[in-house]
Amino acid sequence: MSSTLYVLSAPSGCGKTTIARAILQNHPEFLFSVSATTRPKRSGEVDGKDYYFLTREDFEQRIVRGELVEWEEIYGNYYGTLKSEVERALTQGVSMLFDIDVKGALSLRRAFPNTTVLIFIAPPSIETLRERLVNRNTEDEETLKRRLERVAMELAMQNEFDYVVINDDLQRAIQEVETIISKTIKK
Ligand code: ADP
Ligand code: 5GP
Repeated sequence: MSSTLYVLSAPSGCGKTTIARAILQNHPEFLFSVSATTRPKRSGEVDGKDYYFLTREDFEQRIVRGELVEWEEIYGNYYGTLKSEVERALTQGVSMLFDIDVKGALSLRRAFPNTTVLIFIAPPSIETLRERLVNRNTEDEETLKRRLERVAMELAMQNEFDYVVINDDLQRAIQEVETIISKTIKK
């Protein structure tokens, strides 16, 4: 069996995490790539499951030791994919789902050009995106502003992706991602 690396990217608040959870429920055989980050844990998040929560010092040492396939500084925190995570999927020959930012997605494709499928989750409109972020109630005024400032750059990069899925109706968007998976999965 071969692995396919499915990457979901989108501006913050577009529904990536919600869609990723649904896909993982439908595909218990898929692994989820747990990223490393230096951002503070949100309530309900579990270390080692949602993220590996690291100190800046630990993260920087791992960069120097070459332990990351890709990393970015986003909203003032480091986020990155550990080589050991990807190896987990490749050695077992199972597919893996990634929830990473647009730049990280393109870096992952450069690292594994024949194995990645890049899916961009787009919001129905910027106004809807703002509402979803505000309603999620996880950001203070300052981090909300930072997240919204990045949206234009992120939307501009969607042309680089293999597929674009608009997350208007959640069930329809999940179904569209499922159709992409069935078209592209390596047997
Ligand atoms: P992301 O991981 O992209 O930052 P989330 O999955 O956390 O986004 O979604 C942001 C918020 O929007 C959450 O509160 C989620 O429940 C809600 N949401 C996601 N998809 C939809 C949708 N299609 N319609 C309405 N609300 C949605
Ligand atoms: P959040 O703080 O909302 O969990 O994530 C913020 C952003 O960081 C999202 O766009 C998310 O996809 C991205 N992100 C999470 N993990 C990684 C990673 O390993 N690498 C990169 N490049 N981005 C990541």
